[in-house]
Amino acid sequence: MISSILPTYARAPLTFVRGEGSWLIEENGERYLDLGAGIAVNALGHAHPRLVETLTEQASRVWHMSNLYHIPAQEALADALVGATFADTVFFTNSGTEACELSVKMARKYWFDRDAPERVEIIGFQGAFHGRSAAGIAAAGSEKLVKGFGPLLPGFHQVPFGDLAAVEALISEKTAAIIAEPIQGEGGILPMDDATLQGLRALADRHALLLILDEVQCGMGRTGKLFAHEWAGISPDIMMVAKGIGGGFPIGAVLATENAASGMVAGTHGSTYGGNPLGCAVAGTVMEIVNTPEFLGDVSRKAGLLRQGLEGLVAAYPDVLEEVRGTGLMLGLKCKVPNLDLVRAGCDARLLTVGAADNAVRLLPPLNISEDDIAEALRRLETAVAALSAGAGATDQNAE
Ligand SMILES: *Cc1c(COP(=O)(O)O)cnc(C)c1O
Repeated sequence: MISSILPTYARAPLTFVRGEGSWLIEENGERYLDLGAGIAVNALGHAHPRLVETLTEQASRVWHMSNLYHIPAQEALADALVGATFADTVFFTNSGTEACELSVKMARKYWFDRDAPERVEIIGFQGAFHGRSAAGIAAAGSEKLVKGFGPLLPGFHQVPFGDLAAVEALISEKTAAIIAEPIQGEGGILPMDDATLQGLRALADRHALLLILDEVQCGMGRTGKLFAHEWAGISPDIMMVAKGIGGGFPIGAVLATENAASGMVAGTHGSTYGGNPLGCAVAGTVMEIVNTPEFLGDVSRKAGLLRQGLEGLVAAYPDVLEEVRGTGLMLGLKCKVPNLDLVRAGCDARLLTVGAADNAVRLLPPLNISEDDIAEALRRLETAVAALSAGAGATDQNAE
């Protein structure tokens, strides 16, 4: 019999009822160190006092009034994002998927308004993830996402990850935009190197195309810059944001230049909940905390500690781990054993991690994780890795 919850997730047998900083706690008091952070969502950990205060304060005033009216928390957040980025304008969504929908619509409308309605095609990369909507799965194109769901939204192409020549070969008078994650998350923590991102920007410029960057997972401070593309010294025309920006409250955004957004006039797009006061108030506080040189510098420093420890584990257990990859606190361990075995062994050691494609395990801790918790995470990870190592297996067998 089908469960009362549609069974689209293979859930771990864990039930958390409370969170505290980088820890999740079961009803019986068992504590798990959370290096998944709800898949890069809990940017400031669990129950951050300032986020709790912001949410409850806003909740006691007004929850919702619709985008038919001005929403002060939304305007303040948009101003903060515009002030901190390449963008001139922002639309708020409830999720990363909806940010993808609008990004695609915006790119197509841009060309429609320039008397080129045939320019609808968007070129992306294999292994990408842009959400689960019709546009999101078409943009990513992998069989895992699209199989069984009928005719795909037309107009999307994917080329091998980072292959600039393949992108250029596909550009035609039908091309509207290029879409890319600066670091593929679901794809297995695959960073696009600076030269490739610069190459994409140059290709977009040369062919007058729009560059859409999906920073839903890698943005909002996760790499030690507010947005990951800053490392490459380039900027997109359109950017998708979600996950970390709400610190756990569902909110996403599309950031765009005035030029890219020029087609999106009154009536062309909307959202009932998008930009509601609760989400915008919380995200405003997340921005205040994350977008300081001190905080972002701390992310890089802590990332260095974590990475150093992980490199040590790779060196010590070459039969289990192949390499560390990623930037900042968006790190991946490419495994030689099945990646989900390591996720499970982590759970046994009371450490939460997240699987990804390409046999990788993702480490996406809260950005404000303490140095003590990083040290503890490395100890627990070593326990998990050691349990999977050939040496440990032999010992187990000898013991039996
Ligand atoms: C999670 C994710 C999305 C989809 O976001 P949702 O909030 O789940 O809709 C899109 N792009 C990337 C890169 C993501 O990691």
